[in-house]
Amino acid sequence: MCAMKLPSHINGPAHKLIDESGKIIVTCHVNPDGDAIGSALGLSLLLQKRDKDVKVIVPNQYPDFLKWMKGSDAIIIYEEDPAIADELLEQADLIFHLDYNSLKRSGPMESILAKVRAKRIMIDHHPEPDDFPELRYSDTAMSSTCEMVYHFIESMGWEKYLDTDAAECLYTGLTTDTGSFKYSTSPDTLKVAASLVALGVKPEVIASRVYDTNTTSKLKLLSRALERMDIIERYKTAVISLSEEDLITFNFQRGDTEGIVNYGLSVLGMMFSAFFYPRDGMIKISLRSKGDFDVNAFARKHFNGGGHKNAAGGMSELSLEESLKKFYKILPSYEEELHNA
Ligand code: 5GP
Ligand code: MN
Repeated sequence: MCAMKLPSHINGPAHKLIDESGKIIVTCHVNPDGDAIGSALGLSLLLQKRDKDVKVIVPNQYPDFLKWMKGSDAIIIYEEDPAIADELLEQADLIFHLDYNSLKRSGPMESILAKVRAKRIMIDHHPEPDDFPELRYSDTAMSSTCEMVYHFIESMGWEKYLDTDAAECLYTGLTTDTGSFKYSTSPDTLKVAASLVALGVKPEVIASRVYDTNTTSKLKLLSRALERMDIIERYKTAVISLSEEDLITFNFQRGDTEGIVNYGLSVLGMMFSAFFYPRDGMIKISLRSKGDFDVNAFARKHFNGGGHKNAAGGMSELSLEESLKKFYKILPSYEEELHNA
């Protein structure tokens, strides 16, 4: 049992909204990660125990290493079944927006989500959330949306419905969003983790399912990325890039690039790491930093993106070469900030 975190002005109305809603849809951001899928499934398993008709709809495919979670088989992938998903969204009484702060982050679901009649509840830990939902539980101090879903469930008085399956989903988001409890890990985060372990989660089993699933080709792709790593001592910055050809050579599968950006930041003295690779016809950029260097601001300003202060992402419509050129051109203007970070 942890101290109540859910603000009291949300608790009562959220309870009422859920009570009044028969059909509930739980959604998350595009390119879902462990926190997005874990929070969506954890909450949906709980709502099912409250006899709700609840479905999880996610914008596009997610990595195989998350597909062991209970309820994963029933997830509707919007990109693959837009007609079915649209109908469900149109009929919904209540929609949860988990782990995203703006409809833009729902990718192909943005236009339908903008016009549905359902009431909405956002649970999210990204800065500067939009104000479209009826209820917004937003807290940037939280490690993960999974931690927030735990607090949400607890404030509703529903922790008795949490079973090991739902606890495993929530624990997964805690571990992935904190890099295995290395970042954003407060005493409360560890208390929530402890409560989930007390419900039967085995940390070594989750770690093995999520992290020890490498294929040979994934490790070879990592090897290529490390070969390509450019360490710029002057700006305390590491730049990694993979080309379309690299992805083809090493039989790229969704999720294979996860974590590569962290290697840049693991080099002694680096404060900033940037990773560029082709995805969905554009260049995806992952950014990580240490200390006060704000990659959310950097991604918003230069690469149409966002995220958190120390972990953010963005996109570029330029070619890989042109995107890198743009990055190298911008970097010197951050020299002072990077040295003071
Ligand atoms: P990653 O680099 O792992 O894809 O993302 C790191 C963080 O940045 C996550 O919190 C993710 O939600 C956020 N993020 C990644 N890409 C984008 C983007 O294109 N736009 C915004 N607003 N956030 C992003
Ligand atoms: Mn998250």
